[in-house]
Amino acid sequence: MTVEEVPVNEIRSNLDERLADIEESLRAMMELVSDRVAEVTSAMLEGDVAVADQLVVADDDVDILSLRVEEGCIDTLIREQPVASDLRFVVAAMHVNMDVERSGDLVSNIAKAVGRLQGAHPDDHVRDLVVRMSSQAQLLMRRAAEAFRTRDSELAESIDELDDVLDDLHYRYIQHVISDARRGDLDPQQSLQLALVGRFYERIGDHAENVGERVRYIVDGWLPEAQAAERARERALDPEPRPTRGLAVIDSIAESRRIDAIRRDFVANVSHELKTPVGAISLLAETLEGETDPNDRERLTRMLSREATRVGDIIDDLLELTRLEETDTSADRLDIDEVVQLAVEKVRSFADAHRVEIAAVGLPSGLEVSGDRRQLVRALQNLLDNAVRYSDADQRITVTVEQIEDGVAVSVRDDGVGIPRAELERVFERFYRVDRARSRESGGTGLGLAIVRHVTQNHGGRVLVESKPGAGSNFSMHLPLAPLAGQ
Ligand code: ADP
Repeated sequence: MTVEEVPVNEIRSNLDERLADIEESLRAMMELVSDRVAEVTSAMLEGDVAVADQLVVADDDVDILSLRVEEGCIDTLIREQPVASDLRFVVAAMHVNMDVERSGDLVSNIAKAVGRLQGAHPDDHVRDLVVRMSSQAQLLMRRAAEAFRTRDSELAESIDELDDVLDDLHYRYIQHVISDARRGDLDPQQSLQLALVGRFYERIGDHAENVGERVRYIVDGWLPEAQAAERARERALDPEPRPTRGLAVIDSIAESRRIDAIRRDFVANVSHELKTPVGAISLLAETLEGETDPNDRERLTRMLSREATRVGDIIDDLLELTRLEETDTSADRLDIDEVVQLAVEKVRSFADAHRVEIAAVGLPSGLEVSGDRRQLVRALQNLLDNAVRYSDADQRITVTVEQIEDGVAVSVRDDGVGIPRAELERVFERFYRVDRARSRESGGTGLGLAIVRHVTQNHGGRVLVESKPGAGSNFSMHLPLAPLAGQ
């Protein structure tokens, strides 16, 4: 029987089965994560390292389910070609999958922290807040699973409020950890470890909130899109002819609302990103105040300075993005070889420190582009920085310049950790990171690729990425050539 001969209802039932399978695995994951949060919390409070170790190993269970969801989604897209709401479900399921899997990682991070917390004696307040944060995180995960099962968009919306409660608990928790550290009841290492544990619970809440957002997407569609459709429907029903200028005003209001929403999101993201280093700075500064041992003081000062550099880097990148949006891009005639050399020089010491070698291929190419030297050097520098950051010591990075059909391609290839396929598109989003810990550890801000994309677009070009986990990545900026002299 060929595909065309399969009766419609049979196709339907295949599709339904696949979707049900995806849904079941996702719910099982959420419930598993919620149970594990309870287990890891009691292991933590009892200082039970053996149980914590088991939980780190058990993290595989979530990964296996997650792989099953991923394969289910890809299979559904390839074999069933779902349309409309089913397609929306599959897209949302892929995102939910990522969020729940990350929550699983956070649980195993808490479990790892238990090992390092041995011998710590947090006071009753801190212990009480751990219990409360943990039950709030479990509640959030279970509520997310319930909203997902019932496709209840109001229930999904209520997750936001639950998350606010968790945020508040987290804030109070950090205050208590600080005062315990100040009184000398905890050593600096333990207070930082406890602060991290609190942060992990809070992040589990964030992921549940994301799941809520996806449920709303499945039920209501993308909100701005649904609102625009509603307005269009109202306009169509309205028998009164409207003056064109009036419509233009309505459209411009809709546009400014959309921009407002994007801004709000962005501000929320920025605050979130700054909260961690700023929280760490206040914690470290408070601890430093009461510290007399010169070795501890030196270590704390070093950590303090690293966190301060991180805040500075985030602010620098934010300013760069604003500049890219607000100032015109100059159109100077530039030698692309020179741009590459300048960028390589700028990352040289960072690469040396990581024992990573940078090789250039195809230089001199003699090719020219028209654009802004500072912007292009910065973009290429970001690609090189990332290639170093996500490579291991003694690996090599290759920068290639080559002429392509309609312009020039400048590519940066590394043999580093690579990026999973499902996340390739998202890495260009502001603050999106595949591996948060690695990015932070190596001084990443989560804004580098957003800047690269912006710069490339400003130059009428595009940026492409190919990558394979474990095998490395190749980021390529395609830019139009400068017009020939006299044109
Ligand atoms: P960051 O400052 O975190 O590196 P970017 O915007 O530059 O932020 O990159 C976003 C994310 O994309 C990174 O956190 C990382 O997960 C991934 N990424 C970027 N470049 C590479 C690369 N060369 N290899 C592997 N992952 C990469």
